[in-house]
Amino acid sequence: MPGVKEIAPGLHLLKGRPRNAFNVYLMGDVLVDAGTRYARRRILKAVAGRSLSALALTHGHADHQGSAHKVCSALDLPLMCGEFEKAAIEAGDIRSLVPPSWSSTVSAKLWAGAGHPVARSLRDGSEVSGFRVIETPGHSPGHISFFRERDGVLIAGDVIFNLNPFTGRRGLQFPPDLFTVDPELNRASARKLAELGPSLICFGHGRPVEAKELTAFLQGFGV
Ligand SMILES: [Zn+2]
Repeated sequence: MPGVKEIAPGLHLLKGRPRNAFNVYLMGDVLVDAGTRYARRRILKAVAGRSLSALALTHGHADHQGSAHKVCSALDLPLMCGEFEKAAIEAGDIRSLVPPSWSSTVSAKLWAGAGHPVARSLRDGSEVSGFRVIETPGHSPGHISFFRERDGVLIAGDVIFNLNPFTGRRGLQFPPDLFTVDPELNRASARKLAELGPSLICFGHGRPVEAKELTAFLQGFGV
């Protein structure tokens, strides 16, 4: 299928350039995340001809919500996000989701998209397309992840990066403090995800990894 790559049964990663810099997934018939405000064309092209049921955001940072309004409007999709970020995402004002710093201000100015009504807000235990919502706050106040119990597939959003899209540095790493509202809480969320025993871990930035890579990374940090 052009434009997408199957990485687990029923889970596709949309192709993008630079590769894996700003990941958008197709989780069954639900899009997960929407890249920056420049990702609209890439997303619409990749999913052309498919029938989708919703767009869900792991969190409201500019490089995840950027094209949400445009994609939801173009495809008439309901938007879903973690309940604690609903107000910011609806308003298109994401300042409360990032630490106050020049870099988060600049990235919001360059990449953020317009607000959009949230049709369904998600909480710990909500179900979306066969995946369970796990609340993983820290990187942003209401960050959520998606976990599929039956085969251990996890979409961890930005709790951990496998590529820093700002510097190009590859490999597992915690997201930069500059873009993380509570780094300590984020580490606790990473531990919470590891305790689920995921088999395949997919990120907002970088390629997916298997469990042993995640375990080795977290052990290195004593997490
Ligand atoms: Zn983020």
